[in-house]
Amino acid sequence: MTWQREYSERMMKSAALPSVELVRGEGCYVWDSEGRKYLDFLAGIAVNSLGHAHPVLVEAVSRQIATLAHVSNYFATPPQLQLAERLRRLTGAGEHGRVYFGNSGAEAIEAAIKLARRTGRPRILSLRNSFHGRTMGALSLTGKPALREAFEPLLPGVSHIDSTIEALEMAMGPDVAALVVEPIKGEAGVIDLPAGYLVAAREITARHGALLIIDEIQTGAGRTGRWFGFQHDDIIPDAVVLAKGIGGGVPIGALVTFGAASDLLIAGQHGSTFGGNPLVTAAADAVLAEIERAGLVENAARRGADISAALVGLPLVEEIRGAGLLIGVGLAAPVAPTVVAEAARLGLIVNAPTDVSIRLAPPLIIGDTEVAEFIEKFTAALNASAPKG
Ligand SMILES: *Cc1c(COP(=O)(O)O)cnc(C)c1O
Repeated sequence: MTWQREYSERMMKSAALPSVELVRGEGCYVWDSEGRKYLDFLAGIAVNSLGHAHPVLVEAVSRQIATLAHVSNYFATPPQLQLAERLRRLTGAGEHGRVYFGNSGAEAIEAAIKLARRTGRPRILSLRNSFHGRTMGALSLTGKPALREAFEPLLPGVSHIDSTIEALEMAMGPDVAALVVEPIKGEAGVIDLPAGYLVAAREITARHGALLIIDEIQTGAGRTGRWFGFQHDDIIPDAVVLAKGIGGGVPIGALVTFGAASDLLIAGQHGSTFGGNPLVTAAADAVLAEIERAGLVENAARRGADISAALVGLPLVEEIRGAGLLIGVGLAAPVAPTVVAEAARLGLIVNAPTDVSIRLAPPLIIGDTEVAEFIEKFTAALNASAPKG
């Protein structure tokens, strides 16, 4: 196919050659360049919270780009202030909270690393098998050796620890600036933390004067059935890192600090030319307003429960993980890539973070029809992928 040849000739070799070229989307569906229609249960990796071409997002972007798209951080703009206030309210950071805007998840993690550095302590803890992004700082935190090795030396002072409360107790000390942790490890295959981990992590980091920084890039914006993953536990973090779903498709990242952590970065210590420009902040504010207006956080909880219940007992399904509409399906055999290919043939997009796990992260707007179509197609894909004999 022409586009495949063009892709392999023109695109950096850092990404694998895709098997589908997408040209259009509407609601929970996308269409490829041969006219085939797919039910999108990946949503650009938990990004398209409102699905594709949602009128609210289209209107917000169109209006703002025709009004004022970009001005640099030498100037304030109304959409930026409005989004910052909404994020302070939704995260619970409140009036002592502060917001920094970047353009991606990794950039928001970089800001969190600089925040941690400002404690004056040299060490940062993150979890084995975690994912925090691909820039050099974020990669240093990412707990997957296969992603890190080709780029060493990375940031010094990072320790990757087991996801247990005991490992955290052991690693903690007066030299630790922060623990950075995902409420659910999305890229690892949608792996839950042990019960009580975040509550214990809050207590342990506070006792040692270290920051608790929650990476909500994949779990945020209502995806897990709460606004943010940490809100399933009754804790107050020092900072949360956001991106993906808050923008609904426009590139935006944010670091939200709570309480005293809001005073760590001072004037001139960080910035980004595009960060928080009126175009993307107007878009993200419209996305979050629509999630609130339409009750999509509640919808994520309800549809997630429906899907998880329907998955029980399907062929190859061994374990169901995650929360709300971030679901990990643990398979009984290492055939996840086959399941993804079979699903695509049947007009369903899902993804395989590992050989034994399928990730589901559909738009938060799905209803009965999409759930039923998903179950039908996914069951067929599982049946077609079961090892013979
Ligand atoms: C995707 C992701 C990142 C990196 O975000 P980018 O926008 O790709 O840089 C970091 N942390 C988590 C948990 C993610 O899911």
